[in-house]
Amino acid sequence: MESPAVTARAEAGPHAPAAAAEDPLFPPVTRQRALDTWLASLLNSVAAQIGDGPVDATQGQARADGLALPPAPSAASAARNIGSWDFAAWDFSRPVALEEVTRWVVHEMQRGIVQVSHPRYFGLFNPTPAHPSRCADMISAVFNAQLASATTSPFPVALERYLIQCFGARAGLPQAAGHFTNGGSEANGAALTCALTAALPDFARCGARGFAGQPVFYCSADAHLAWLKLAHQSGIGRAALHLVQTDGTGRMDADLLDAAIARDRLAGRVPVMIVSTAGSTGGGMIDPLHKNSAIARRHGVWHHVDAAWGGGALACDHHRHILDGIETADSITIDAHKWLATTMGCGMFITRHQQITAQAFHASMECMPSCDMAADPYVTSAQWSRRFIGLRLFMNLAAGGWAGYGRHIERALSQADWLAHALQEEGWSLINHSPLAVLCLRPPPQAPAPAAIARAVLRSGAAWISAGHFETIPVLRICITSGRTSAADLRMLVAALRTACG
Ligand SMILES: *Cc1c(COP(=O)(O)O)cnc(C)c1O
Repeated sequence: MESPAVTARAEAGPHAPAAAAEDPLFPPVTRQRALDTWLASLLNSVAAQIGDGPVDATQGQARADGLALPPAPSAASAARNIGSWDFAAWDFSRPVALEEVTRWVVHEMQRGIVQVSHPRYFGLFNPTPAHPSRCADMISAVFNAQLASATTSPFPVALERYLIQCFGARAGLPQAAGHFTNGGSEANGAALTCALTAALPDFARCGARGFAGQPVFYCSADAHLAWLKLAHQSGIGRAALHLVQTDGTGRMDADLLDAAIARDRLAGRVPVMIVSTAGSTGGGMIDPLHKNSAIARRHGVWHHVDAAWGGGALACDHHRHILDGIETADSITIDAHKWLATTMGCGMFITRHQQITAQAFHASMECMPSCDMAADPYVTSAQWSRRFIGLRLFMNLAAGGWAGYGRHIERALSQADWLAHALQEEGWSLINHSPLAVLCLRPPPQAPAPAAIARAVLRSGAAWISAGHFETIPVLRICITSGRTSAADLRMLVAALRTACG
């Protein structure tokens, strides 16, 4: 069998060669150490090179070296071709040296993904992970702590609880409870479960059919539409989500919201939750938090603030005010793996109602070492076995302090400002007026449509941007996402846009 194509430019393997009879899964400690050292150095050089290559290596030119081109398909190999990848060499019939496996995987990662940690990735909030959070992942991996229960992992569980309280306090929710999640969608799902449980104490036992009428909840038409999936998963159905129109500036129209709730009540439906988006995915707009809170109170429904991306601004003293009103929420979603630049998979669900999380997620199993509704994550959140997620955020925050995050947030905001001015001078119009670091722009007259411009820029490899709509206007979307974006990167983006406009 041919060995898999390998080219990672680098780097002979570690100096301690594998002994013939060595167990590849649990090698001797000396060899493990040599491999770890080699891998750390390989990854450091690879990470340092990301900014020199194309942002979107999946766009064609990466195939040019022909390495992973599938062989002429036969019936047997066709099953092993997925996308542009031929896995025929990986039939696992014999072990392959870990160095070889590593080189192949790293090489394919270099060209098989959009490089979201590239300084000219101006995309969907996937950050260049800050260095301390990368270190956190190494620590988590070595100890492999099991965070289902506080009895087995008292330190990690305490640390996560402390961080939730810290962010709760920044948001203005004293004594906040909550938990870390894989991401914003999971945290939003926790909010929906809590809202349903708060609306109907018997929801835990009899589910959606316990309601006197169809339960419904509300978000803006510009909200993250993973809410539809969550409605589906929760069993109340996608029709339970009512989209409220925006007010022409990308924010939920609070008057329409109020009227929709009144109408649903009259029709016998049961409103359970208002979702305010604080930093919409497309345009970075913030729904009227105070107004929506007042409406929620008046109608006795849960108010959730989805600040998955925008919540990062809480970490910045000078820009905390962007999120004024968030302190009135019943619960909040913040993704540290967006603006707070942790490695992927670090969301937070924060709530002022600790009791509800215990009602919403309780379970008991004899084999578990404890069942403490105030402490054990497996009875206050959706996940069971899980890793030490919060360490990623802790290490970033501890190593940089609030001031470190403050500078990170302010740099993104001032870069967005600079870019808006630079492009307006070249005839672009700014369509959104977000307090966050995202621009929705209409190209100069005579320029191609935003989608064509985005495609041309992606093909050039110079930067990653996207096209979409703000309200109903087709726009180009540029979001400052990486903490490594420099002034030179912004100038290169402006140049790439000029070229794409012809
Ligand atoms: C990103 C985002 C989500 C989804 O979060 P994931 O971490 O991708 O699961 C939800 N809401 C908003 C406003 C977001 O920006």
